[in-house]
Amino acid sequence: MKKFLFFFILLWFGKYLFAQNSDYASIISFSYFQNRGYEVLRRICDEAGGRLAGTVANEKALKILQEEGEKDNIQISLEKFIFPGWFRSNDSVVLLFPFVKQLRSVGLGFNPTTQVLESEVVFANYGFLDDYANIDASGKIVLVSQERPKNREELLRYEAIEIASQKGAIAILFMNDKPGGLVLAGVGNFLGNPNLIPAFSITNEDGQMLKRLLSDGKVPRVRIKSNSFCTTVESANAVLTIPGKSKKKIVVGAHFDSWDISQGAVDNGVGIAVLYEIARNLSRFKEYEYTIELVWFNAEELGLWGSKRYVEKHKDEVALAINLDMPGDPTGFNIMGFNFLDSIVNAVVNQLDGYWLKGGVVSQPWTNSDHMYFMFEGIPVITPLGWMDESMYHHYHDFGDTFDKVNKKYISNASAVLSYLIYTLAKSKIIFPRLSKEEIAKILKEKGLETRLRKQKEWKFD
Ligand SMILES: [Zn+2]
Repeated sequence: MKKFLFFFILLWFGKYLFAQNSDYASIISFSYFQNRGYEVLRRICDEAGGRLAGTVANEKALKILQEEGEKDNIQISLEKFIFPGWFRSNDSVVLLFPFVKQLRSVGLGFNPTTQVLESEVVFANYGFLDDYANIDASGKIVLVSQERPKNREELLRYEAIEIASQKGAIAILFMNDKPGGLVLAGVGNFLGNPNLIPAFSITNEDGQMLKRLLSDGKVPRVRIKSNSFCTTVESANAVLTIPGKSKKKIVVGAHFDSWDISQGAVDNGVGIAVLYEIARNLSRFKEYEYTIELVWFNAEELGLWGSKRYVEKHKDEVALAINLDMPGDPTGFNIMGFNFLDSIVNAVVNQLDGYWLKGGVVSQPWTNSDHMYFMFEGIPVITPLGWMDESMYHHYHDFGDTFDKVNKKYISNASAVLSYLIYTLAKSKIIFPRLSKEEIAKILKEKGLETRLRKQKEWKFD
């Protein structure tokens, strides 16, 4: 009788294991038969355009996402929110002397509308306060280099704008550190306030030319126009919920918006596509312990507004968050300072032995993407580690971040590995403890993130 019982238990357990294994095999293989995420992303890129939050292009892209979701039987709904937005209009930086040329430029987010400004250019090195010791920037247009200074902490563009404005400059030009006609879009501050003076990113080559002219004593003159403006904007996160036994959620996010000057194909189109594939893959299964919520966060580029609003509203429901910002070809996972996740995430890496996630599991928190406000609440966070080809990140925040840079196979790979991880976590009964404010502050301090967060006015731990 005992023998029989044991056999029965073994049979039951074996069946259970087999079911688990067949789900796992199905999850991996599903990722390679089709790649609808890639197709959806192609439509979003080519039919909607750059997805700056609050713009018509962004709304159109959201419609495409929902429309495609319906074809795949996934119901993606919108959760609206309000934030301090910004719209780009006709802006220009024109060289007037020694010859006339419109410089390739991009206004930084939250540039205010100004009248036409015209003045001489003055070079202020990196833009630190002491870089102004021997120059008079008053009434001038300041040029600063964006190279990372040696033996000095980095100066955020936000700080450089503040200093230039204090010194009486009427505008500031950031000369890109990367050559090749590239610009670097971004915000002029992280709080959604109008920039103190209009700020533009210009190419390394134009910056070099301006510097040469200055050192030859042929002081260049530049005319600046900024018609862009700040205004309150409504946007929306796109949400898909896969119910579990518990209402507690594992949130998997990828930012949906991008800079408007490109198609935002790599930043973060690939994240959109991977999340779409995860949605198709994991919504095939039932009886999760945790509810899985997949969120295409909006307005990340303008200051993480979508995830900030989401955390404000839903933080009590969230057990764990995973953020996919430019996931490449997966090489491992980052447990972001939440070291108690080490064993379970390592177990996943070991189970996927044939995949050879050679980066393994690291614990190196970083900020300024959608996981940040989850982290600040002490909610455990995971981000994937991934390999990207140089061609993929070369055009980061530049005009050239377009669909042709997207690697279809990397999307399949990321979808396979991440679906596997999320499935494992959502089927488990593991309790994910939250860290206290003090514990989070300690981690951020240890990893050297305190200074930057203070500079951004995002340090909330005093
Ligand atoms: Zn991004």
